[in-house]
Amino acid sequence: MSDIRHDWQRDEILALFQLPFNDLLFQAHSVHREHFDPNQVQVSTLLSIKTGACPEDCKYCPQSGHYNTELEKEKLLEVEKVLEEARKAKNSGASRFCMGAAWRHPSEKDMPYVLEMIRGVKALGLESCMTLGMLTAEQTAALAEAGLDYYNHNLDTSPEFYNDIITTRTYADRLETLALVRDAGMKVCSGGIVGMGEAQSDRAGLLQALANLPVHPDSVPINNLVRVEGTPLENEEPLDPFEFIRTIAVARILMPASVVRLSAGREEMNEQMQALAYFAGANSIFYGDKLLTTPNPAASRDMQLFARLGINGKASCSAADVAAGGIAAVDAASAGATGDSKQKLYYNAAAS
Ligand code: SF4
Repeated sequence: MSDIRHDWQRDEILALFQLPFNDLLFQAHSVHREHFDPNQVQVSTLLSIKTGACPEDCKYCPQSGHYNTELEKEKLLEVEKVLEEARKAKNSGASRFCMGAAWRHPSEKDMPYVLEMIRGVKALGLESCMTLGMLTAEQTAALAEAGLDYYNHNLDTSPEFYNDIITTRTYADRLETLALVRDAGMKVCSGGIVGMGEAQSDRAGLLQALANLPVHPDSVPINNLVRVEGTPLENEEPLDPFEFIRTIAVARILMPASVVRLSAGREEMNEQMQALAYFAGANSIFYGDKLLTTPNPAASRDMQLFARLGINGKASCSAADVAAGGIAAVDAASAGATGDSKQKLYYNAAAS
């Protein structure tokens, strides 16, 4: 049985990245089989409860208020609207419901609504997951008290490359939020984004930072950059697909018992690449047409691919990853809001 380690060195991680591809995949798949059913992939749904106008400057993110991406901004969804979506998710077989808000941190004014959403989702018998940005100790305690099961907060990239991507919050801020969540007894969902122009040593550094946390995150979303027009990374060179698969494989080896999630960027991966990612150790995806604000392969295509590969789609897992990592969910239309009636569904969180 592979060890759960928290003392990974950068050079040994780089040595894994540089293995011959087949050797790396064989090793990763062997580790995967020790901890998981290799023919099971968890499926998550994700709802954006507040979209766009975020004060942070994450260069990959269409929700940042610093860039003009023509994203339609939405205020915080009304609690009942969120619960309606949660009911739909439950009826479609989901057992966990993930909610993402494009905030630097929740305001005190927003917290009662957020807590109400958690209680409502729990009352439906669903697990709950949120991504709301940075948290204070008091907010973390309130979320835990309301019954929040998972909190997503991504590290995004290596400590060395981080300042090239975000200047409005620090790596230390992110680690502190993760510590608060962990100490409050909630499960941690934390990963990052590749394909942002980082070096291989940065991809190794991201995985090193995640694997050397006191407890491995329960779920590790690996996002492949979606180059959105209007963001500073819109013209970034796409990452070599095999390097993306290597990143999944190394994540699996470093964090053997964590769920590794194929997150944003799956739309641009062909079926063969997705199949390779599952072999390399990915065992969770987001399901549905939208992944926060970027397109996601149509749900039925996922199910068709699963059927062809003999994979069971287990509608359970979670995840939020993206918003704080930059990709918060769904638009108002998919939340059922249209036209003037939309205004009734929100209160003005942006004014907070
Ligand atoms: S990634 Fe999250 S924190 Fe950063 S700009 Fe986007 S929504 Fe805001």
